[in-house]
Amino acid sequence: MTPGSPRVYLDANRPERRAELAANLAAVRARIARACERAGRHPDEVTLVAVTKTFPVSDIRLLAELGVREIGENRDQEAREKAAACADLGLTWHFVGQLQTNKARSVARYASVVHSVDRVRLVHALERAVASVRSDPLRCLVQVRLDDEPGRGGADPSAAVELADAIAAAPGLLCAGVMAVAPLGVDPESAFARLAEVAQAVRSRHPEATWISAGMSGDLEAAIGHGATHVRIGRGLLGARPRNR
Ligand SMILES: *Cc1c(COP(=O)(O)O)cnc(C)c1O
Repeated sequence: MTPGSPRVYLDANRPERRAELAANLAAVRARIARACERAGRHPDEVTLVAVTKTFPVSDIRLLAELGVREIGENRDQEAREKAAACADLGLTWHFVGQLQTNKARSVARYASVVHSVDRVRLVHALERAVASVRSDPLRCLVQVRLDDEPGRGGADPSAAVELADAIAAAPGLLCAGVMAVAPLGVDPESAFARLAEVAQAVRSRHPEATWISAGMSGDLEAAIGHGATHVRIGRGLLGARPRNR
């Protein structure tokens, strides 16, 4: 397998896989419910996005049967192929990975939400893409970087409002809120507290930007405690992945 190429997404649909995914899903939903209870929130306020990168289409079909409608992917080619293979299911596709401007047009065809808008150039690429390939608006989240390491994606928190303004001003794009990945080696509580402040600043100018996409398998409780409306769960639902994915 060459780097960057997706594996073959066809999988022997083992009967025990369904039971495995059902049990994982129940466990994740229970964690979400407990975290909501502790935070005084209703579990309906938190949307579960299943991040299926590296896993086969057969798993997405099983998750769909189990009631999961929101699917996250982080590479365009893989996401595009899987969305096409699942077109009959009417799922909602979330693009959560770093996005190159030359992929904007492709992503705009199948994604309903792009979680990773981190620069004005990408806003403009998405605006042009939407104008040419889709009729309904594309929801965009401002991805905020919560450490001092540029390169892994995300805008500086000080640039978040400006990016939200650019999204809101772009025909065909909706500014839905903010997204972040808690940095390694940083307490997720403080990272998500910071994100909540950024979310508030964005929302004060763009009241419709109510989403906070935060929390993964290891830190969903902290994220929900700080207002996450969307958690992006991979391993906790699907199991271990190859390194770096
Ligand atoms: C892979 C990924 C996730 C899911 O991470 P897990 O630790 O497997 O739950 C969430 N968000 C982004 C941006 C990802 O790339």
